[in-house]
Amino acid sequence: MKDNIINLLAAFETENIGKSFPMEYCLPVYHCVSDEKLPHIRHIIQYKNTRQFEEDLDYLSKHFQFVSWAEFKDFVNGHFKPEKKIALLTFDDGFREFYDTVLPVLERKGIYACNFINPAFIDNRELMFRCKASLIIDAAEKAKTVDPEIYSILSLENPSKENLKQKVLKIGYHEKDLLDSITEKLEIDCNAYLREYKPYLTTDQLKTLTQKGYGISSHSWDHPKYGELTLQEQMESTNRTFNYLKENGFIYESFAFPFTDFGVKKDFFDELFKNKEMFCSFGSAGAKWDSVERNFHRIPMEMGESGEQILKKETAYFRLKKIINKNKIVRR
Ligand SMILES: [Zn+2]
Repeated sequence: MKDNIINLLAAFETENIGKSFPMEYCLPVYHCVSDEKLPHIRHIIQYKNTRQFEEDLDYLSKHFQFVSWAEFKDFVNGHFKPEKKIALLTFDDGFREFYDTVLPVLERKGIYACNFINPAFIDNRELMFRCKASLIIDAAEKAKTVDPEIYSILSLENPSKENLKQKVLKIGYHEKDLLDSITEKLEIDCNAYLREYKPYLTTDQLKTLTQKGYGISSHSWDHPKYGELTLQEQMESTNRTFNYLKENGFIYESFAFPFTDFGVKKDFFDELFKNKEMFCSFGSAGAKWDSVERNFHRIPMEMGESGEQILKKETAYFRLKKIINKNKIVRR
């Protein structure tokens, strides 16, 4: 219902999104770009193929001015006056496709991007629990039958592949051991997958990206949902990543929330910005303001739609929320 209204309103958005877009900055966020069906990502993220990604970039380039990390900081500090509204391209999770597929496109088009990474997964030391969920669903789809024991591990009342998929997708960070029991039962060898496919960027690639002028920054240590952590756990994951980035010469002054910043209270931001070297944080709630001025919201671009449609919908939705005063997230 809500989506129908937004689609309808989006249809009336002007062709000049650079003008009508409600914020002075546009922060698109992607995870992956690939022309392949990737078993560890395809069931959790609707990533775009190269053609779709390039179309998004061309659309954004027409209406916005892509900026680097340094220009973004200058813009926030009021020292940079762009000709158009600015766009800072971001990626999360540090997948290898950023190097193999995205980098050649960005270099050809002369566009900067920053990738927010989880140090726990760099060099393919570990697979993020959501990627394990994707591998499980992929294996279950391909299997003729599913071992009833798996249904019982998941305490599924109505055993079916569809229910298994829904249940596996709901498994959170604190229950991630459950995913390990299931991969074991399904004989999915995550370590072999890490060795053979190498889903993540390596330290050498991070260094090369930095030398080429691209950004590497923080997405927490191992991708927990911050709203489910205690303040102490939130700070441990954040500070450990901050130190790693600083030691390795990456961008340590920003932090992008894994999953969402939904439910993260003011006390976390107070603690985060006690560190005077922390410049800003990034959520991904779309076109929204935040009562924490240095928490900037990004636009998720992997929603199964073109960049043009997504930006038009965000613009229409923002206008709608403005009427009822709901376009600002207020933290307490
Ligand atoms: Zn992420």
